[in-house]
Amino acid sequence: MDITKIEQLIEKLSRNDKILFNRFYSVRVYESRSKVQKKVISVIKRRFGSIKKIEYQEIVCINNNLTGEGSLFNKLRSSRPMRKIKINMHEFEKKEGCFFCDIMNKTPEDIFGRIKGKYCMTASNLAKYDYFHGLIIFNEHNPFKIKKPWLKDYLEVAYKWFKKVENIDRFAKYHFLIWNHLWKAGASIVHGHMQITSSKIQYGKIKKFEEIVSYYKRKYKSNYFLDLFKIHKNLGLGRKVDRCNVLFYLTPIKEKEIFIFTKEKSFIILSNLIYKIIQNYIKVGVQSFNLALFKIKDYWIVRIVDRGRLENSHCDIGSMELYGNSVISTDPFVLASKFKL
Ligand SMILES: [Zn+2]
Repeated sequence: MDITKIEQLIEKLSRNDKILFNRFYSVRVYESRSKVQKKVISVIKRRFGSIKKIEYQEIVCINNNLTGEGSLFNKLRSSRPMRKIKINMHEFEKKEGCFFCDIMNKTPEDIFGRIKGKYCMTASNLAKYDYFHGLIIFNEHNPFKIKKPWLKDYLEVAYKWFKKVENIDRFAKYHFLIWNHLWKAGASIVHGHMQITSSKIQYGKIKKFEEIVSYYKRKYKSNYFLDLFKIHKNLGLGRKVDRCNVLFYLTPIKEKEIFIFTKEKSFIILSNLIYKIIQNYIKVGVQSFNLALFKIKDYWIVRIVDRGRLENSHCDIGSMELYGNSVISTDPFVLASKFKL
């Protein structure tokens, strides 16, 4: 199965499942054509292997009618020539001059002090972007060294940090955890770390999402997340793992986005699944990713997305992603077939 055959797959759904799919999504599959002149044939053959690939391209557009998320799929995008820079993986072991290897002397602490885990410690962010803004700095410098118990410890420390904040100011109740893995994902420091914020006002996108979930419940007398999962499951893009729902997302914000939700009381339960996702990510060649963990109503949500190979010097996000639909080369059906969870 691949994304270009999604219309046929939808046709095979039961009447009710088709209605549900169409409530959430609008899909168009186009054949986009180009005329290849004689003089460019050799260039195209060298770069793409065949002229047909360029002359007839299948573009799949999927929009979420409720959230406004939208993606344009074309696998040919991944074959584009890109300028490469040399990356030496041994560099990630080098600790000289690393601020996060000397936390006590090089980082400030939060007003309630530091929280020390078994495999990490918190610091206050130097240049904050919110009311409370902390760091979970991993004991391990190398960002590619990730272990299951370490990840659980990071989330446990995050949980304690959020509780500390709430004890100081009960109105700082909107918690957000992010993990920018390396510079392609926006990290300024190589040493592995997560960021945690607690705000008095809900972030705009999260608030909007919560409003959509409420609107959905009112209008359709149904649960947005469970219906979203049902759609993905019907297509072979949804799985239940460790009491969490995993979706190979139909409208990814960028490559290989995975959307997870769980109704479990604590988000610490997600550490095991996040670990599995990262292991699978590494297996399919991901080197840099963004992860966000936040709450919408009773659900903990995790979104994780690939940000491209380190040797690619270009930025994967452009005007399309910022202001239009996201341009995607990874097929979620192919991704799901490669993932062992
Ligand atoms: Zn370090």
